[in-house]
Amino acid sequence: MTDPTPRRGLTLHDASDLDRLPIDPATRERDREAARAYAVRAPRRYLELVDWDDPADPVRAQVIPRAEELQWDEREREDPIGDRAWSPVERLTHRHADRVLLYPTYRCAVYCRHCFRKESLAPDGDDFSEAALAPALDYIASHPEIREVILTGGDPWVLSDARLAWLRGRIESVAHVRLLRIHTRVPVALPERVDAGLVAALRGRLMVCVVTHFNHPREITPACVEAARTLREAGFMLLNQTVLLRGVNDDVETLEALSRELVYALGVKPYYLHHCDLTRGLSHLRTTLDEGLALMKRLRARASGVCVPTYVLDLPGGGGKVPLGPAGPLTRDGSRWVFESHDGSQCPYEEVVAARGQEP
Ligand SMILES: *Cc1c(COP(=O)(O)O)cnc(C)c1O
Ligand code: SF4
Repeated sequence: MTDPTPRRGLTLHDASDLDRLPIDPATRERDREAARAYAVRAPRRYLELVDWDDPADPVRAQVIPRAEELQWDEREREDPIGDRAWSPVERLTHRHADRVLLYPTYRCAVYCRHCFRKESLAPDGDDFSEAALAPALDYIASHPEIREVILTGGDPWVLSDARLAWLRGRIESVAHVRLLRIHTRVPVALPERVDAGLVAALRGRLMVCVVTHFNHPREITPACVEAARTLREAGFMLLNQTVLLRGVNDDVETLEALSRELVYALGVKPYYLHHCDLTRGLSHLRTTLDEGLALMKRLRARASGVCVPTYVLDLPGGGGKVPLGPAGPLTRDGSRWVFESHDGSQCPYEEVVAARGQEP
């Protein structure tokens, strides 16, 4: 029997908890295998954002498994952006000279259906240890070109304050590192975790940049506002990355509301809008590039530059991220260029630059 009222107080820990959610039985059976194939989890407050009367609810689509996740296209990939090809030691990816990705854990506070690392996640057991990270930390110390360490995973903020403080201490003891960046969904899904202890664990010599992962304006709750204020008051830089997802945020009204509230309510700068990677089983959540480009064009025409992220495609196989749009010049003839303005009109631009070597 399906309980018609949402069970407030339910935390989603694994596939068996889905039986206690107000999901219609036929849908539940259809999706059961997918729920067993990949990690399932959502904290109580995040789950309370779901409108169970709407099968297409944008929060539900991000956390409740669907049979479509098992429909793999042969052109999709197990390692969609080629992180492994750029991994010189365990738990680290070094694709760009000045920065590395470090994976202190492969656990998360919430498991996202659209995660591009969903095949690398490890929901069970404690996978953090100082020994497991030693080769990666030694690598960072012996590569002076590394200026920035990006903690990702998994979600680094599922770790205790003590572990984070240890990790921060090890990273900041490397003199050439200047920036500590943290990629986390905790401010979205478990904002109560963001407290004075977390801030104290991370504060030290390094500039700290926190990159959140909000995908829909409905995810921005008073608790998120409070968490963002705590992080801003700590002096941390706040950015957000969003994944463009079909049926979740692939309309300009949603993207505009999200971008505006990130800035106005949270003080978070929209950084990247990611085109959905070629992760296996995500074709039902993927848009076309044309759709993404058209959305960005409309968003740019409506919203302040502060509110507009860069639309990026992470090239499969480890080519890195490429920015997509806004469109370049329509035509060019020597130093005369023609651009299209936001209202669609054609605007000429002629370069005026003093000849080189003739400055007084
Ligand atoms: C995305 C990514 C980064 C960070 O790139 P930014 O453009 O600096 O945000 C670093 N390393 C790898 C391997 C990445 O995929
Ligand atoms: S929190 Fe990040 S790493 Fe974890 S499942 Fe979601 S997108 Fe993937």
